[in-house]
Amino acid sequence: MSRIEQADLSQGAQAARAEEAAGASATAGADASRENTASASAGQEDAAGAVPVRVAVIGYGTAGVNALIALRRAGYAGDVHVFSDATTLPYSPILTSYYAGGEKAYEECFPWSADELACLGAEVHLDCPVTALDPTAHLIRTPQGDFTYEKCLIASGAHPSTAGFPATEGYEPLVLRTLDDACRLKRVLEGGACRRVLVSGASMVALKSLEACLRHDVTCTLVGMNPHVLDFNALPAAAERFERGLAAKGVELRLGQTIKSVEVASAEDTRDAVANDASTANASSCSVDTADANGMNTGAAAAAISGTAAPGKLTVTFSTGEADRFDEVIVAHGVRSNLGFLPQGALEADRALLVDEFMRTSDPDVYAAGDVAQALELVSGERRVVGIWKSAALQGACAGAAMAAELAGGAPEAADAYPGSIPTNTIAVLGTLFISAGSVEACEGRRVEVREDDDMTVVYVYEDADDGGERLVGFNVTCDEDVAGSRAYDTGAMLTLRIEAACR
Ligand SMILES: Cc1cc2nc3c(=O)[nH]c(=O)nc-3n(C[C@H](O)[C@H](O)[C@H](O)COP(=O)(O)OP(=O)(O)OC[C@H]3O[C@@H](n4cnc5c(N)ncnc54)[C@H](O)[C@@H]3O)c2cc1C
Repeated sequence: MSRIEQADLSQGAQAARAEEAAGASATAGADASRENTASASAGQEDAAGAVPVRVAVIGYGTAGVNALIALRRAGYAGDVHVFSDATTLPYSPILTSYYAGGEKAYEECFPWSADELACLGAEVHLDCPVTALDPTAHLIRTPQGDFTYEKCLIASGAHPSTAGFPATEGYEPLVLRTLDDACRLKRVLEGGACRRVLVSGASMVALKSLEACLRHDVTCTLVGMNPHVLDFNALPAAAERFERGLAAKGVELRLGQTIKSVEVASAEDTRDAVANDASTANASSCSVDTADANGMNTGAAAAAISGTAAPGKLTVTFSTGEADRFDEVIVAHGVRSNLGFLPQGALEADRALLVDEFMRTSDPDVYAAGDVAQALELVSGERRVVGIWKSAALQGACAGAAMAAELAGGAPEAADAYPGSIPTNTIAVLGTLFISAGSVEACEGRRVEVREDDDMTVVYVYEDADDGGERLVGFNVTCDEDVAGSRAYDTGAMLTLRIEAACR
């Protein structure tokens, strides 16, 4: 049975819940779908062999789907062609680590049922990556042929960057973004041969990958170039509490370090090392009391851990000059927008595509939403990639409504403008919880306040306001979820609202 069929089946079982969740949009979509059938099939090839379509959506993630829902909600009943390089229904990248870690079933990674999506009446081209977009010619190229569009939405998301990981002959590191990435990671973790994993990077995705490994009882080391985990999201007081939580779960932290080189051992080397390691393990008892005063795993503790595990096929040398062996490396060095199909300079871009408050790019017929777009971030007042699900969904919805307004002969301004968003992050690694929102960048005019008790650390970042007072612009909360989880979630929700209110 194909994966898409599996997803269909399981989600069919959830039809009642899905119907309720779909609410008005699905109903509106069903009507649109009926009207749409004729116009979608009316697309005839033009003289150059391209099929004319009114709306083209590149990418079938949350930004793409929410654009589609908004188009229908706004009453647009014409054709929409969605191009997806995936072979499945739209899935949530958020859930991929939980699937790899065995916490979620494959079927649970799909937020929309096949029925809900069918009601939206789009012509969906699966396994059909857009290979080129020519905004001047209004032309999209795909393996299924060329298409011309009236309006196009770029909602192609992002891919993991492996920049900084040294090129290694015979080894491709693991990454985590797509469902295929998660399937590969899960196979490795469940295969039995993977005992020690090195996670390179200290971002949310790195930590979520780490948790997936820990859930399979794999011994983990995390290497990060910054002095603390959670890179740009955490201030030291919160990060240190989180690090203590990781260390208590047996994670070795190599912070302020990078990977210098990776060598793949030959099968012979690995056999010899296994034999040596077995004798070392017999000769030495694996001590667990080698943590330092802060509860961090020290090098000695790490050595003890490696003494109990079969040596890995990879010899990794760190920037400190130390070397260690691992079975796999997961690289989480940030993400890059998926824009390879766009000629350089075709649309105004910075780190991603710059969009206005209606998600229009510098070309009025091309919109962008989600991880591929730089839209209003409320704390800075600048256009930034926020890189979270809720923003991608909202941006997709804005783009869909604005396109519908234009296709009905009006201006995008007839639709609601994007209100802007703030970065938010919540992560729990085996019960160590971290919640953050807003900006915690240290800069002039900002003040940091730390409130810490036995149960929880809360870090507040205040900024001088124009009225002479201060406004909250960011926070971190860290705690043990079992001890103070519900208080932490409440605090996080309340502080997030305060930041949003102060920014508007
Ligand atoms: C492991 C992980 C954990 C995360 N955890 C959280 C979290 O806890 N909270 C949160 O808010 N966010 C989280 N995120 C981020 C969140 O998933 C993204 O911000 C969100 O999915 C962006 O939506 P999107 O629609 O822009 O992109 P995507 O969801 O990536 O969808 C884009 C789609 O376009 C397709 N595509 C790409 N190129 C092409 C092409 N050339 N032609 C056709 N199709 C193409 C892609 O395959 C993909 O299916 C996480 C991300 C990851 C990877």
